[in-house]
Amino acid sequence: MHFCVENLLDWYDNHQRLLPWRQEINIYHTWVSEVMSQQTVLAVVVPKFSEFIKQLPTVYDLAACDEETLRQLWSGLGYYARARNLQKGAKMIVEQLNGHFPQSYEAWLKIPGCGAYTAAAIASICYYEKVACVDGNVIRVVSRLLALSDVWSQSGQSAIQDYVNNIIPAERPGDFNQAMMELGATICRKSKPLCHQCPLQKHCLAFTNNCIAQCPPKKPRRTSVNIELFALIIWHKETNTFALVKRTKRFLKDTIGFPLVSTDEVIELESTLYSLSIQISKPTDNFSHTITHHRISGRVFIVQLTENSDSALILQKLGFSAPIYWVKRSDIAEQLATTLDKKVFQLFLMQN
Ligand code: SF4
Repeated sequence: MHFCVENLLDWYDNHQRLLPWRQEINIYHTWVSEVMSQQTVLAVVVPKFSEFIKQLPTVYDLAACDEETLRQLWSGLGYYARARNLQKGAKMIVEQLNGHFPQSYEAWLKIPGCGAYTAAAIASICYYEKVACVDGNVIRVVSRLLALSDVWSQSGQSAIQDYVNNIIPAERPGDFNQAMMELGATICRKSKPLCHQCPLQKHCLAFTNNCIAQCPPKKPRRTSVNIELFALIIWHKETNTFALVKRTKRFLKDTIGFPLVSTDEVIELESTLYSLSIQISKPTDNFSHTITHHRISGRVFIVQLTENSDSALILQKLGFSAPIYWVKRSDIAEQLATTLDKKVFQLFLMQN
């Protein structure tokens, strides 16, 4: 075993955090926890994980779960596409693999939403397969251990992958992967790393050379793109209900929320509403929102339907197909799963 791996595993044995999915090896639990933990902090993941497993204890329950329940169980974790893919994967396991989980890294890669990182985590933890996980935490730890100045290029990424592939021990690959991630999350932190508590300090070149702040170097930023969007609040005033749709286009695809339309579409939409004698408000003040490198400048139109409006026909003419969810005002706050929708509704509240 590589000398620094022994220190790392000793440290992990004594300092690992007690997490609900670490109590015993359970493939389903490992899979769900790994998907939930991507881009979400553990303090949020732990209670959501426990509730998720309580409500959907098996892969069969996940496969059969209705969308509304899944959305509620995922709310607060963000990136709902992950939940959708998780369920797609569960359906594939139930329908095509008779409920048997894939047995290797390669086989997990075929499951929807399961990339190299998740497949490596599951295969190493549950099947003792010697495949290394590389995420942001691991990149940071390795770049400091080796004092690497190039980590974001193709060759830099390969150097990191090769290094962990070389040192991952055959006896405890899952613990090694978890220990590296744990070390990155709790000790070798992005800022103010706790080097005096680090089990790898005497092997760390960045510590020895006093260049921790330069490792890893800053990631080159993607150029941001400015986008103009309009959100529609379709409001049935008499029943005080709001139309939510399942979005099928680029932004927030597959989430349920207020319809979003582009600048081109809004012109057509206004003329359709005019021909149907439906009232549309002036656009509200701007709201801003960022999704990855897209900087969205949005405005909100309120489309007010009356008792006599044929809601289904209007929505169809506006190009919104079923399912349409009519949500009561008293329930809307808890039904809005994305920050963008919450900002949109806030603008509505300021006017109504
Ligand atoms: S010594 Fe410090 S910089 Fe080096 S690996 Fe440990 S925590 Fe990270």
